[in-house]
Amino acid sequence: MTMKAAILENQGVMTYEDVPSPNPAPGHALLKVKSASICGSDIKRYVSGHRMYPLILGHECAGIIEAVGEGVDEGLIGKHAAVIPLVPCFECIQCLAGHYSACHSYSFIGSRQSGGFAEYVELPERNVFVVPDELSLEHVALIEPSTVGRHMLALGDFKAGQTAVVLGAGSIGLMIVQWLRILGASEIICTDISESNLETARKLGATVTLNPSKVDVVAEVKKLTGDGVDLTLEATGVPMALEQTVPITRPRGKIVLGGNQPQDKSLPLTFIEQMMRRELSIIGCFMSYSAPFPGHEWDDTIEALLNGSLDMDTMISHRIGLSETPEIFARIGAHDMPHLKIMIDPES
Ligand SMILES: [Zn+2]
Ligand SMILES: [Zn+2]
Repeated sequence: MTMKAAILENQGVMTYEDVPSPNPAPGHALLKVKSASICGSDIKRYVSGHRMYPLILGHECAGIIEAVGEGVDEGLIGKHAAVIPLVPCFECIQCLAGHYSACHSYSFIGSRQSGGFAEYVELPERNVFVVPDELSLEHVALIEPSTVGRHMLALGDFKAGQTAVVLGAGSIGLMIVQWLRILGASEIICTDISESNLETARKLGATVTLNPSKVDVVAEVKKLTGDGVDLTLEATGVPMALEQTVPITRPRGKIVLGGNQPQDKSLPLTFIEQMMRRELSIIGCFMSYSAPFPGHEWDDTIEALLNGSLDMDTMISHRIGLSETPEIFARIGAHDMPHLKIMIDPES
């Protein structure tokens, strides 16, 4: 049996091909992919190169369990599910502490093993996140990026009534904006250089939007809040935005860093001096997991989808067929296609 898949063959090279379809190994399940979405990290793997080739990318995906391997509950067959992409060892000291994203020997579906830009994906039973049938599988494919936003608020110990700045209104920034609205922020200030992204941010709950190419973000946030906000969430990976985090956060406030910064840049050390004077907490974020695996972030997202508070439709800018995936990666890699979430339908 073969299946269609989009395959990363090399840096900047993606093909659409027939490959052998996986048979679920013992302890594993086979998911028929119904919807997958492209993550900024997939684009980075395409543009900047990746640790291994060939590889089927795709870690934000949803579908229906079609078969199970030995030892797996057959009741899973026919269930709708999202892929939980992190495959921790569950045995190392960090896993035993519940810090799964710090696992000493993890795998990751769509970056260290075959992912969901294909008709089928094989995954360990523990990585099957069963969801209610009534949810749209497109929405289910977007659970993973939602959990990242939810996790960043948890890391920042966000409490209802607090004020926040979200730096960046890309997919993760917009998920953060939504979680701030859902969990009761009193002010949600969002920045981005794209006016259309800012418009989307306002639609999803931002109370104030600022375009750093037009205004001085630090001065504007101070004008609005006096000493700065309670919580700042960085979701751009742009050094300039990182530099803004400290002066816009109130003394004893918290900063959560989620954007992947370039490795060849540096910050002025006044960043550290100001951080010390304000006694700020700067917290890193990596993935979206907590104990018990995969974490409350995932259950919270299901709840927000069921009660309608999480708006996934507004997050989607494009819908494409699997065969178009290589062309779309080439266009995004060439900065030729402004986008929010791009949803891939393997059946169209
Ligand atoms: Zn992602
Ligand atoms: Zn581990």
